[in-house]
Amino acid sequence: MSITNIPEIFGSNVFDDRVMRARLSDDVYNSLKRTIDENVKLDENVADAVAEEMKNWAMEHGATHFTHWFQPLTGVTAEKHDSFITPSKDGGILMEFSGKELIKGEPDASSFPSGGLRATFEARGYTAWDPTSYAFIKDHTLCIPTAFCSFSGEALDKKTPLLRSMQAINRQAMRILKIFGTDAKYVKTSVGAEQEYFLIDKEVFSKRPDLKYTGRTLFGAMPPKGQEMDDHYFGVIKPRVAAFMEDLNEELWRLGILAKTEHNEVAPAQHELAPIYSTTNIATDGNQLTMEIMKKVADRHGMVCLLHEKPFAGVNGSGKHNNWSIGTDTGINLLSPGETPSENAQFLLFLSAVIQAVDDYQDLLRLSVATAGNDHRLGANEAPPAIISVFLGDELTGILEAIKNDTPYQGREEVKIKLGVHALPRFSRDTTDRNRTSPFAFTGNKFEFRSLGSSNSIACCNIMLNAAVAESLRQYADILEKSEDFENDLHDLIKDVITKHERILFDGNGYGEEWVKEATEVRGLSNLKTTADAMPHLLDEKNAEMLKRHKIFTDAEIHSRCEIMLENYVKTVNIEGLTMVDMVRKNYLPAMERYLYRLSQTTVLMRQVSPNVKCNYEVSTMERLADLTDYILDAVVQLEDALATFKTFNNVFESSEFVRDVMLPRMDTLRKYVDEAEMLTSQRDWPFPSYGQLLFSVN
Ligand code: ADP
Ligand code: MG
Repeated sequence: MSITNIPEIFGSNVFDDRVMRARLSDDVYNSLKRTIDENVKLDENVADAVAEEMKNWAMEHGATHFTHWFQPLTGVTAEKHDSFITPSKDGGILMEFSGKELIKGEPDASSFPSGGLRATFEARGYTAWDPTSYAFIKDHTLCIPTAFCSFSGEALDKKTPLLRSMQAINRQAMRILKIFGTDAKYVKTSVGAEQEYFLIDKEVFSKRPDLKYTGRTLFGAMPPKGQEMDDHYFGVIKPRVAAFMEDLNEELWRLGILAKTEHNEVAPAQHELAPIYSTTNIATDGNQLTMEIMKKVADRHGMVCLLHEKPFAGVNGSGKHNNWSIGTDTGINLLSPGETPSENAQFLLFLSAVIQAVDDYQDLLRLSVATAGNDHRLGANEAPPAIISVFLGDELTGILEAIKNDTPYQGREEVKIKLGVHALPRFSRDTTDRNRTSPFAFTGNKFEFRSLGSSNSIACCNIMLNAAVAESLRQYADILEKSEDFENDLHDLIKDVITKHERILFDGNGYGEEWVKEATEVRGLSNLKTTADAMPHLLDEKNAEMLKRHKIFTDAEIHSRCEIMLENYVKTVNIEGLTMVDMVRKNYLPAMERYLYRLSQTTVLMRQVSPNVKCNYEVSTMERLADLTDYILDAVVQLEDALATFKTFNNVFESSEFVRDVMLPRMDTLRKYVDEAEMLTSQRDWPFPSYGQLLFSVN
């Protein structure tokens, strides 16, 4: 594809603003626009008019079906296709699509996780059009982004609370902006999600049951070459991968997803894609689509795209970076230091709001990225630690220090900072040095939350982030709205926030042992290492109260979500355990036995030929392998016991602790012995492709 085509194909499969403006009448367009921008309720006649044009446009672009596209709590997207066909009176067909069909769908939702919500309320759920995210065409189907709720209105998806959180932060941020004086009508949060992934050859993949069933390798000794040479990061992209990327970009562009940069990552076979940022819910839809299309395009190129957080032990896993900022409809980024004293004060207040939010709700941010897969990364010296902290960089830290202590700021020029009176000392964005070990880093005009796992929906962390920042802003607005001496009160407020929350600020090495000690013992920060540790905190009164206050979740939704996420965790590990047992009993032990047979036969034969031959290799290998088969048998029996016990739990809190304390350690033990056996067994007898074959399978 030549470059000149890009503007032409970009968004060609999206019913976006350009299409709406061109195809809808002015009245309909303006009315829809008010719904999109200002959340004004949609008129039924407008919906009919939009549906009609959407259908015509979709059919012109080859679509025959439509679907409500939604994001249930499984973490992947769901769709159910209906064709536009309606029988006509004369026995033929009409292609129809009504406003009603656009606005509401009723998929048979009984097999989506609901954490008991539907049981207590209604048997079925419904989907409702989210007009703030554009409809698009995928595989001859018009996809309508929707929210998914129970009939009593409880959210059964990730989008509903995300939209609610965007409203919450808009409400509170507008209160603040009004105090400063603003011509903005609304505030929106924006996100750019950088996505990491692995590509491996389909042939090799298909020979690994663990990859097929669980998305990660449950066994595998390290290859002679891993990532230690650092030669893959930003390295030359292989032709086959380049062809994949080109194809992927084109598909994403057609869907209006602003795929922008791509490069090799640290581990062999690992890559990254970054889009240009957009409004949070559009970015979320875009990221879900990106993951789906990555898999589809990889398949076309004879490869498999692994989105698991830790497909391979011993080499880096994959994460996702959630770049987050908050801005007005008038184009002001509230996390960008401004030119005037007033803009600066506003910037510092929003900065404070984020700092306080991260400190007050560390646990919510941590649990928003907690999954069985991501537990393998956080705190494993390759990803940010499970401890949440904020990196600001030297200069901004210096400015906050100066405000806190009422001392002159020792920047390039010495200035005492009085908010609202002085301009901020200029600091260059470039010096916000890129501390890669920080989970939550200020990068000049946005915060980058780096703890997400590669397969996480970005909805979860943005719900929590928006909610927590809305809460800081609410508290500030309550104070400042009543203030009679705005400048002084603002100064005191910011000073107070910095003093109270400076424990969350940390610019040092987040991977170090010393940090864990300091963070937990001196600063009292939480260190929630696993999903089992983190998830129950969703129910903490402090958290539940805040989420309810901002109407992000109801009590029932909070409980159901906690349960679903924990269920997801225990089910995932359960499948991994079962897969391990299967591979060990059916393949690894028999393979070792085969090799033992050859070794012992060889020894006997060799000694027949020459009685004094030592057979050191044969005998020593045989002895160790024989021991290992015993250890492996023992370990697999232990794991089977754990799997049996696991079935007896009917409380997900208990079973998740059991998974953490018993299952996972037993899986580790089993793996350790099998990996050692791999190094001793001839490749001919080993039943599955090695790490080397997997990681270097794409050339
Ligand atoms: P890098 O991390 O390589 O420095 P960028 O700073 O350009 O790259 O951004 C990384 C990601 O952050 C991209 O997805 C980008 O679109 C996004 N991003 C940039 N500015 C903002 C912003 N103001 N709000 C949210 N995301 C942003
Ligand atoms: Mg980044």
